Amino acid sequence: MQIFHEEAYRKLNHSEIGTLHGIGVKRAEAFKRLGVYTVGDLLRHFPRAYQNRGNVRLLTEGIEGESCSYLLTVGTQPRTATLKNRKVITKFRAFDESGTVEITYFNSRFLESCFRVGETHRFWGKLTKAGNRYTMAAPLHEAYVEEGSLPDFTPVYPAGAGLSQGLIAEAVEEVLARFAACGMPEYLPEALRRELFLPSAAAAYRAIHRPRSMAELEAARRYFAAEETYLFALALTATKHRKRSGTPPAMDEVDMTVLTDALGFPLTGAQRRSIDEIYGDMVGAALPMSRLLSGDVGSGKTAVAAAALYVAMKNGYQGALMAPTEILAAQHYETLGKLFGSMGFRVGLLLGSATAAAKRNLRRMAEAGEIDLLIGTHSLLTEDTAFARLGLVITDEQHRFGVAQRAGLGKANRDGKTPHVLVMSATPIPRTLALILYGELSLSMLDELPPGRQRVDTFTVDESYRARLNGFIDKQVREGGQVYIVCSAVEQKEEELEGDLLHFTPDGRAEMRFDRPKLTSAVEYRSRLAAEIFPNYEIGLVHGRMKGAEKEAVMQRFASGEIPILVSTTVIEVGVNVPNASLMIVENAERFGLAQLHQLRGRVGRGSRKAYCVLVSSGGGESAKERLAVMKNTYDGYKIAEYDLTLRGPGDYFPGRNGNARQHGSFAGVMATDMDLLKRTMTEAERVLAEDPLLTAEENRFTAEAVREIFEGDERAMQ
Ligand code: ADP
Ligand code: MG
Repeated sequence: MQIFHEEAYRKLNHSEIGTLHGIGVKRAEAFKRLGVYTVGDLLRHFPRAYQNRGNVRLLTEGIEGESCSYLLTVGTQPRTATLKNRKVITKFRAFDESGTVEITYFNSRFLESCFRVGETHRFWGKLTKAGNRYTMAAPLHEAYVEEGSLPDFTPVYPAGAGLSQGLIAEAVEEVLARFAACGMPEYLPEALRRELFLPSAAAAYRAIHRPRSMAELEAARRYFAAEETYLFALALTATKHRKRSGTPPAMDEVDMTVLTDALGFPLTGAQRRSIDEIYGDMVGAALPMSRLLSGDVGSGKTAVAAAALYVAMKNGYQGALMAPTEILAAQHYETLGKLFGSMGFRVGLLLGSATAAAKRNLRRMAEAGEIDLLIGTHSLLTEDTAFARLGLVITDEQHRFGVAQRAGLGKANRDGKTPHVLVMSATPIPRTLALILYGELSLSMLDELPPGRQRVDTFTVDESYRARLNGFIDKQVREGGQVYIVCSAVEQKEEELEGDLLHFTPDGRAEMRFDRPKLTSAVEYRSRLAAEIFPNYEIGLVHGRMKGAEKEAVMQRFASGEIPILVSTTVIEVGVNVPNASLMIVENAERFGLAQLHQLRGRVGRGSRKAYCVLVSSGGGESAKERLAVMKNTYDGYKIAEYDLTLRGPGDYFPGRNGNARQHGSFAGVMATDMDLLKRTMTEAERVLAEDPLLTAEENRFTAEAVREIFEGDERAMQ
C-alpha cells in the first residue's frame, strides 16, 4: 500500500511554480510561457526526447561536431590561466584506451577541484580533431563511479528563453521528490493496470523523467497512453449514456428543388445522399436529430448545411450555425446570407468584435423570432443567446472532439422543443474512429469531391532546396498568387540540441538517431523573411498567442489579397477560404500528422489558380520520410486519415487535458495510442460507469475530476 496524503497532494499539485527552490519571478515567467504554471504542470511537462549518454564512444570513434558521450580518465590536474583577452580558462587532459583529449572550460575556476587525476567521468560534448590532436570545449560532465552508476538516458525538455535543460531537470527532481513524499492518485483501475502490465502512476512519472532503462521508459510511455485513453473513454462513455431526448420541432415535407436550384451547381451523389439522410431525420421526426456530417476539405459541407437549414426555416423554425472562428462565421454569413436573403429569410451574424449594442440587438431579435438564421462562433451562440423557435443547430467544428457533446445543450429555446443537431467535422474522420468518438451520433459521409477540383501538386523537400523554394515563392507572388508558410512552433528559443537522441516515433516505437533539429518558428522566420529575403513584400504573421481580434485582422488582410505571404502556425488549419492562395509551404512537416497536412494542403487550390504544396522536412528519420511520401501520392482525405490512424494511433483526435492543444511532435510517444488500447479502455470505462454512472464512488473521485478537466470544467458534461 502506497502512502497517499490527499490534502498534501492537492496543495502541492496546485502550488505555483515559483514555490520551487531557485525559481524566482523571472524563471516562473519563463515556465509560464511553456504552459507550466503549477508544480503539477511541471510534473506533466514531459521530455521531448532523451540524450543517449549510455552510448559511450571511444575518442577515435567520436564524430566531429556532434555531441557524444565519452568515458574518460583525468590525466592531468586542471590548471586555470587568465588569457590576454581576460578570459579565464581551465584546462586539463583526459584519456581513454584510444587516445587523449584536451578539455577546456571558461570562467569555471571551481572545476579545478572537481577533477582529480585518475578519476573517471562521463563527458558529453563535441569533439574537435586537428590531426591527431583532440580537443573538447565545455563538455557536460558526470562523475563515474562504477558500471551502471549513471543513467543512460538524460531527458531533453521543451525549454525556452531563460530556462536551461539543467535548470528544468533540477526543478523536476525537486517535484518528483515532493510528490514521492505525499503520493499521488491512481486513475487507472487496478484490474486494468494488471492486465496491461502497467507501473503505478508514481513509478511512471519517475520513469518518464528519469528512466533507468529502456524497458522502464517504455512501460511509462504505455502507462500514460493507457491513462489518457482511459480518461478519454470515460468522458466519451459518460456523454453517450446521456441519450438525446425531448420533443423535436415538428417539421413537414418541403420542396427542396427551390434550394438546390438556388445553389447554382448540381449536387454530388454524396451530397444528395447526406441531404436525404438529414431530411429523413428532421421531417416527421419522433426524436431530435443528432448527426455527424463528415467530409473532406472542399467536399461541399456548406451546401448540405444549407439544405438542412432550409428544411428548418421553411417550417417556420430558426437555425443557428456555429463556426470555430469569427472569420469562418463571417464567411458562412457571406455565402448563406446571400443564398437565403434572396429567398426572404432574415440572416444575422453575431460577432464577438461587434459593439455591445449590436450584439444585444441581434440577441433580442433571435429571442423575439425576428431572425431566421443566426451565425456566430461556438462561444457566442452557446452563451446566453435565447431563441424563440430554434429548430436546428449546426456546429462546424475542428476535428477535435469537444463541442459536439455540448451542442444544443442548455440552449434556451422559448418554445420548449429540443432542436435538431448537425455536427460537421472539418476533417475526414476514419469511419472506425468516428464510431468510437461520436458513437451517439448518426453518421453521414461526404466521400466524394465536386467535379473539376484541381489536384494540389505536392513536393517533399529538405533544406537543400531552400534557395529554389524562395525563388518559387517569389514567382508565385509576382504572378499574383499568395503563399501560406506554416511553422510548427511560435517561437524558437530552445537551445539547439544535438547528438545521439532517443525519440519515440509517432506510433510509439523507440528510435535512436543523430539529430540536428532545425525548428523553423513562425516569429523568427517571419522576421528573417521580411528582413533578408523578401524585403519588398509585406509578410503577415498569425499565431495562437495573438489576440483573437489581432489574428483575425491579419487573416482578413490576407484573405482580401493585401498581404501576399502569410507566416503562421496551424491556427489557419481550419476553414478560411482564400481562393487566390496558390502555394502552401509547411516547415518541419515531419512534426505534423498526415491528416493535418492534408487539411493544410486543402487551404490552397480553392480557386482557378494552379496550386502547390511543399512539405519541408529537416530530420525525423526514415519513418518521417516514408510518412510524408504518402502525401505526394494520395489525395483522398479518408485514405490519408486511415493511414495516419494505423500509424500514429487516434491521439491526434483527442483533446489535451486542461484544454491544452496537443503538441505535435513533442514527446509523441506518450500521446500516440493504439486502437486496441482504446477499445480495451472503452470496455473498462463502460464497466466502471455501469457500476458508478456519476463517478461518485470513493475510488473514482479523482478520476471524476480528471474527466471533468477534459470537458474544460464543464459540469454539465457529467450529468
Ligand atoms: P467544405 O466541405 O470544405 O466546407 P465547402 O462547402 O466550403 O466545402 O465547398 C467548397 C467549394 O465547393 C465551395 O466553393 C462550393 O461552392 C463548392 N461546391 C460545393 N458543392 C459543389 C458541387 N456539388 N458542385 C460544384 N461545386 C460545389
Ligand atoms: Mg467548410
